[in-house]
Amino acid sequence: MDDTSPSRTRWELWGVGHRLLVFAVTVEVAAAVSAVTGLVGTPPGGGPLLLALALTALSVVHTELATGIERSRRRATETSYFDLSSVWTFAAALLLPPGLAAVVIVVVYTHLWHRVWAPARVPLYRHVYTTATVLLAARAAHEVVRTAGGLPGGLADPAAVTAIALAVLAYVVVNTVLVGAAIGLAQPGIALRELVGRWDDVALEMATLCMGALAAVALGSAPGLVALVLPPILVLHRAVLVRQLEEEVSTDAKTGLLTAATWQAEAARAVRRVQRAGTGAGVLILDLDHFKIVNDTHGHLAGDDVLAAVAAELRAGVRERDVVGRFGGEEFVVLLPELPLGAAGRAELWQVAERLRDRVARMDVGVDTPGGLRTITGISISIGGAAVPTDGTTLDQVLRAADTSLYAAKGAGRNAVRIAADRHVPAPRGPSL
Ligand code: GH3
Ligand code: MG
Ligand code: MG
Repeated sequence: MDDTSPSRTRWELWGVGHRLLVFAVTVEVAAAVSAVTGLVGTPPGGGPLLLALALTALSVVHTELATGIERSRRRATETSYFDLSSVWTFAAALLLPPGLAAVVIVVVYTHLWHRVWAPARVPLYRHVYTTATVLLAARAAHEVVRTAGGLPGGLADPAAVTAIALAVLAYVVVNTVLVGAAIGLAQPGIALRELVGRWDDVALEMATLCMGALAAVALGSAPGLVALVLPPILVLHRAVLVRQLEEEVSTDAKTGLLTAATWQAEAARAVRRVQRAGTGAGVLILDLDHFKIVNDTHGHLAGDDVLAAVAAELRAGVRERDVVGRFGGEEFVVLLPELPLGAAGRAELWQVAERLRDRVARMDVGVDTPGGLRTITGISISIGGAAVPTDGTTLDQVLRAADTSLYAAKGAGRNAVRIAADRHVPAPRGPSL
């Protein structure tokens, strides 16, 4: 079904769950009430109307210029547009009566919808919710500055400067809590760290709001200066592009695991840390058995699906702090940074490897083949392991020992685990593809 079809959008709306739906509608009604009461309470005069027009025009120009940068970014990555329009919505919140600020926000977000989110196939209900959170965050920021007596008249007005800092905080907190709550309701059990967002995302939002505050002060005193805000905000877009490209090159596109180079860098760092702390670590190399037969029987695309499914199974089968990567082809690597020293560590490494081997052996992978839908079973993996510091004190040395163990596992008939200096393993079971 086409992603943009109305039935798909409706389906997604029903798919969000009852509690989330009630929460989202409550937030949206609160935002609408705040906007309407704001408009009724303080009908805009001529001056604020001009400011509102200027902010809306600047936001439109900004979005048009930024979509050029975004187009080059989307060629490189699939991740969504990074919205820096809060520079204008925050300025509106500080400068304008709340009703008029709400109108600016709705116009800015309608423009964003047409230029960015609708083409990116974001469901409309999600964009409406985002707009509502921005309306409420802007209202909170406005109330903070109003309570403090308005925008600063100059540097000699430290109380008002403090008020702006508090307004930035209010905007970020309201927005983060409302977005985080919706994500939390949509995905119960998600880690708090993911709800709040990455630290550099929050820092970027803060930087954008600071620019918004400067834009508001400039518009209030020397309107021409506001043009100076556009170049830094466009450069901020470029900075986001660079960061996302960095993330892109560290992730293997087929499996979502770390690429070999990134894994090696992270694993080497972990091994050095372990060495300094005088504790133990383990490395596993995992190679799918007779994978060529999967490709030859079901086609390379089905083979890719199996690779992705095995990668997900491996990731799910280890702890979050364990580092999982795709070493190349149908080979994977895992670094376990917290293992006891000596025989106890080797025993634990063997247990983890055996668990992974067993999980893969039990997998059923549904694949779309030229001959129709098929379920591939009988997948198996051979695993070689080695430990720090028993089998080596650098990543290279341990990897080499683990690789030798992997050959031993293959030599023992595959679907088997071998740990360096520990050749005792259960009898292997042959793969049945
Ligand atoms: P063994 O048990 O000895 O490891 O046998 P094998 O067939 O798994 O090993 P071999 O090294 O002979 O072949 C590896 C196969 O993995 C061949 C190659 O086509 C396949 N392969 C490597 N990378 C990919 C990939 O990205 N996608 C798919 N579909 N296949 C891949
Ligand atoms: Mg193989
Ligand atoms: Mg191989």
